[in-house]
Formats: sequence, structure tokens, C-alpha cells
Amino acid sequence: MYLREILFIVKLLIKNIIGLICLLLSTQVYSATSHEYKLKFSVELDAVEVTIKLAHPERSLKAPNSKSQFFINLATECKTKRQITYRNKRLLLSPDTKCITYTMRLQQISGSRLFNAKGQTIVSQANEWLFLPSIKSSEKILISVDHSPKHNLSVPWEPNKFSDDEFFIKASPNSGSGLIVIGTFHSEIIKHKGTKLRVAYLPGKPVDKAMIKSWLMSTVDNISLAYGQFPNPNPQIIIAPSAKSWSRQRSPVPFGRVVRDYGESVHFFIDQRQSLQQFNQDWTATHEFSHLLLPYISWKNRWLSEGFASYYQNVLMARAGVYSEQLAWQKLYDGFMRGKRSAPELSPNSAAREGRGGNMKVYWSGAALFFIADVRLRQNSNNTKSLDTTLKALKECCLPSNKAWTGSQLMRQLDTLSDTTVFSDLYKDYANSAGFLPFAKTFKDLGIQVNNGKVKFSDNKNKAIRRNIMFKIRK
Ligand SMILES: [Zn+2]
Repeated sequence: MYLREILFIVKLLIKNIIGLICLLLSTQVYSATSHEYKLKFSVELDAVEVTIKLAHPERSLKAPNSKSQFFINLATECKTKRQITYRNKRLLLSPDTKCITYTMRLQQISGSRLFNAKGQTIVSQANEWLFLPSIKSSEKILISVDHSPKHNLSVPWEPNKFSDDEFFIKASPNSGSGLIVIGTFHSEIIKHKGTKLRVAYLPGKPVDKAMIKSWLMSTVDNISLAYGQFPNPNPQIIIAPSAKSWSRQRSPVPFGRVVRDYGESVHFFIDQRQSLQQFNQDWTATHEFSHLLLPYISWKNRWLSEGFASYYQNVLMARAGVYSEQLAWQKLYDGFMRGKRSAPELSPNSAAREGRGGNMKVYWSGAALFFIADVRLRQNSNNTKSLDTTLKALKECCLPSNKAWTGSQLMRQLDTLSDTTVFSDLYKDYANSAGFLPFAKTFKDLGIQVNNGKVKFSDNKNKAIRRNIMFKIRK
């Protein structure tokens, strides 16, 4: 009798405390927000009406895509209807402006779509029609979306846990153009290994969604072979059935890219006719998702981000058992040789700045840097430290990151997290030097020999390191 009452009171107390914590957390979330945006999409999807309530004065709001001028209907202050000047991609505000409203005509914008969505779906770039202030790193903008219940919505922005139609916009490295998809397209949330992939299937050729789901889950599995988790809790994923012009390419994923524009997104153009096995053997998705293991690195140092993804796609595909250990090392060797032959007169930083010429140099110099760093970490720590352990620490401190990092900033952070100087030392020695990083010496250290372009293994004291890097792990 007594016991039952005590249990009841304890349960009641726990429930109340949990409720109080939830309330505190939600007010915490809201107290960090500043401006409030309301988007109202018309049922016909021909226009979006934007109303902005400012929490503090802003000098201007910007939609950085130059097309914004063609699609904006008069922007005015909400109450006074005073017209707001549009100049050079900006709405120029006066210090007393508290509320702004404008309408953008979406159908006209849709003519210039990269993704040519058909029928009742509009795919637009937010940077053409969403005028935003420059956002401080401590600031969050609350954005609520009103649309017809017959329409789905896909955005890169962080979802509000407490409301399906609300999102947060935080500072962003703004690499690429984030996409807003609205309409009758199919969308789903794939929960796997602690992440929620927010997937949008663009209309077009019919797609086997069960197969795509299985492929995306396998790719999340591959990424989790780095340190057991996926680096982003809820990325936006866009699946576009491939265009006709690509139909002669054999890859099931002719093109993929990562966009970090107020949220992290991965866009895949797929050849929907290929089998699940072909999708799972293709490296593109593992490469693109690997990018999310690092923050955005500025364009002029992109050899580090491309190189990292090129090294890790091979490591992770081997750990997943898609590549044999032999094949993974062969692919790394072939890649390093392509990098070595590419623009030998340029340093990695200058190749990144030059643009197209030294593409292989850009991709494989960074791969060599991360490969050599991985081996040095393992050698110096009796295999207790590695690139995996450093990346895990990076996720815990810094991901997803809302800023663009320079190469040397990232190297310093990785040094701090691994308690070494391995990364900065390599960067100092090779980032601005012509030629290629000395991968052959590290191959030799690991007992990897090359005869007539084919890799072969011999046992030496570092055999364990070689095996640990590529070791097949049960998913
Ligand atoms: Zn890449």
C-alpha cells in the first residue's frame, strides 16, 4: 500500500521534472533566436510571400544570387507600406525598419533550374529569393513555413524538434546553393545509425525508392566505419534521376556534391536503371558523405577536403568489404601516381587556386597528406591514435560547423585534438611546395612494394598498421 503510493509520487515527480526540463530546453532554443521569418507558399506554387520581423535593426538583407532582381515584387515595410530600395542584390533598410514583406514569383525562377523538376514540384535556390542579414555565430533565425497540406517540403535548414513547419537558420560557410523543394514530390526520413537523412526524390524517371533507401543506408554504414557515428544528425539529401545526356556514362551516380548553404545537403544525380549491387560498389556516395567528416574548407585550400574524401572513400570501402585490402591499396597507389604526374611544377595550394589544370594534383595531394598523417599518428602511438580517433574528436568539438575553415586552421585543430604536430608539420612542408608528397616512403614503411605498377605486401614491423587502416569491419 505504502510502497505503491511512494512509487506513484516518485513517478509523478519524475514526469514533472522531465516536463520542466523540456520546457526549459525549448525556451532556451527560442531565447537564442533573433529575427523571425514567415514563408507562405501559394497553393499553385507560383509565388512565395515572405514576411520578416526583425529583432534588432539591420542595414540590409541580401539574396546573393543576382537573379533575385528579376523575381522580386515590390518589397515594403509591413505597416507603413513604405517601399524598400533594392540595389545590388540587397534590400536597403532604415534603422527604424522592424518588419518587411515581399513576394517572389517562383514559376519564373523555375525556368532556370539546374534540377528540371516537372509537374507540381518547384525546385528553387534559396539564395535567389530569401533575403538574409549576415548572421552572427551566436544567432539563430527562426523560419516558419506555411504551405498546402498536399505539398511536401525539403529544405537544408535545421528542423525545429518541436514543430514540423519550423526551422532554424544559423551562420553558414555558404558553399554552393541550397535547394528548397516544394510540391508533390516523394520525401522520406531514413533513420539509421543515429542520423536522420531527410531525403527528397525529385520527379522525373521512376526510381526504385526501396533500393535507393538501401543504398543510402549502406553508405551511412560505410561512413560509420570511421568512428561509429554519422557526422550530421539530419542532412538534406536530394536524389535526382539522371539527365539523358548522362545515360551513356556507366556510373550509377554520375554526379554528386555537398552543399553547405545554411545547412548541410548532399545532392546525387543517379542512373535509376542500375542495380543495388552497382550502386553499392560505386564510390561516389561514400566520397560525398566523407566530406561531412570535415568542416567546409575554403576553396583555395580545397586540395585538403578533396584529398581527404579521396583517401577515406578507399579506406571506408575496404572496411565495408566492397574493396579487398589489395584493391584499396592499389587504388590509392594509382591515385597518388596520377597526382604525382599532374602539374609537378605547382604546389597543392597553387594548383587549387589555378582551377582546372591540376585537378589530379588537387585530389591526390590531400589524399597523400591524410594518408601519411594517419600512418604517423598510428606509428607514434602504438596504434592507439589514428585519423579515425582524431576525426571523432573533431565531430565532438566542431561539427557540423557554421564557418569556412582555412587549411592551416583545420591542421592546427587536428593537431590539438590528436595532441601532436603531425598535421601542421605536413602542411608546412608540402602545402606551398612544388612536387608531390613522399607517399612512397610511407608505403615502404608499411611493407607495401610496387612491381610494374602493382602493389604487393611484405611483412614487416608495421604490418599491423597497414592492416588496421583497411581492416574489414562487420557492419
Ligand atoms: Zn569531393
